[in-house]
Amino acid sequence: MAEAERSETSARLKDLPSIDELLQTSTGKTIAAKAGRALAISLARKAVEELRNSILSPESQDKVSGQGSLTSLAETRMADDLREELRSGVRHVINATGVIIHTNLGRSPLSENAKLAFLNEASHYCTVELDIETGKRGKRGDRAERLICKLTGAEAAIIVNNCAAAAFLVLTAFGTGKEVIISRGELVEIGGDFRVPDVLSRSGAILREVGTTNRTKLRDYENAIGSGSGMILRVHPSNYRVIGFTETPKLSELAKLAKAHGLILFEDAGSGALFDLSEFGLGDEPVISRSIADGADIVCFSGDKLLGGPQAGIIAGKKDLIATLRRDPLYRALRLDKLAYAALEATLDSYLREKQHDEIPVLRMLSMDTEQILNRSLSAVEKIREITGTGLEIDIVQGESVIGGGSAPDVKPITWCITLSSAKKTADELENILRNFDTPVVTRIVDGKVVIDMRTVFEDEEVKLIAAVSSLVK
Ligand SMILES: *Cc1c(COP(=O)(O)O)cnc(C)c1O
Repeated sequence: MAEAERSETSARLKDLPSIDELLQTSTGKTIAAKAGRALAISLARKAVEELRNSILSPESQDKVSGQGSLTSLAETRMADDLREELRSGVRHVINATGVIIHTNLGRSPLSENAKLAFLNEASHYCTVELDIETGKRGKRGDRAERLICKLTGAEAAIIVNNCAAAAFLVLTAFGTGKEVIISRGELVEIGGDFRVPDVLSRSGAILREVGTTNRTKLRDYENAIGSGSGMILRVHPSNYRVIGFTETPKLSELAKLAKAHGLILFEDAGSGALFDLSEFGLGDEPVISRSIADGADIVCFSGDKLLGGPQAGIIAGKKDLIATLRRDPLYRALRLDKLAYAALEATLDSYLREKQHDEIPVLRMLSMDTEQILNRSLSAVEKIREITGTGLEIDIVQGESVIGGGSAPDVKPITWCITLSSAKKTADELENILRNFDTPVVTRIVDGKVVIDMRTVFEDEEVKLIAAVSSLVK
């Protein structure tokens, strides 16, 4: 480095504002008032640190020099970083992807009743463990458990944090030190790192795999039964399908076999369905009441997949087995939160009143008429065109929605999609603007165009969606 340059650099370094000076600027004061002094300090530190690095790095020196005072540069950085910080965390987004149970977007959105229960009941002091009639201590989750029994025909139920926790609890309570017999075709990984063999081994159970990936016969299970056997495990392969030359015994046959040998039959149904959804193409999803009737001793399933409620792991089955789970210290560690109980009760209540297809968003979206989707798309496009004129290329084409959440990978409900493209911006740019809108709009890109599927957009989100799309011509 030449002498002149070196002294220039050290002069610039001396010009760097101190943290205190930055906190005294109008930007610093605004940030401290809005987001707290602690955040203001850390943003100031970061800004100064970045500017110092820029001054010291030969490549970016030009950018730092001759661009106004270092203080104002630091202020701009602080303001930008604050904006980013405030946009992070859990926020409402508009799901225009057409993926109904969108894992990255929180799986099931809650029903109106579930939201109200959450907000108006459970967020206050509430009866989570109080029997209101007697004034005595009540059983946590009592009503939700009773509803589960009513809806599935199970003798008893218990609820934990999610389905992975449910499977882990059951395997730990009944499988530790014993052989758990499972078909090779069911040793799957569900999204989000739920791997059946890993969960089994962590629970202390001994994996006894039988059959082959595509075909497992009743005889395979039977031959594997020995003095060390404790359980037969059936796992719904969820997001994975073997098609063609396949075979697996009926659950009722496994139940008979388990009973004859004094083993527990446990089914991890994953999503499962409280009622048969075959009219929507979801005939492969285990119906919980059917599994119970077919003789499964214990069935577990998620609260926030096809059931359409909050995150929860529901375990339904034989009374004595559920009682054992309730006494297990692991249950205490995995228990469900009161907010989730309130939302779950309200969701189950919709099923009890047989209003699930109107009230529960995932079921409403699943059963949505394609003509209704087309009409909503047409009306949205008309409103967007009124604002954007010819600034955007807009079309409506037929497409496919997705169930998502690891359920029914082969089912793609027919839908209508709004496609967007622009002569001035790429699809990636359009997608990025929509995602960074005030209320973020999450879309898909198909064949170089941004695609909006109204199936997963709530009616009360349409105004914001139209505003977001219209902003693309700015
Ligand atoms: C989704 C799924 C799980 C995990 O459920 P979470 O509610 O995400 O914990 C476990 N088993 C099966 C078969 C699943 O499909």
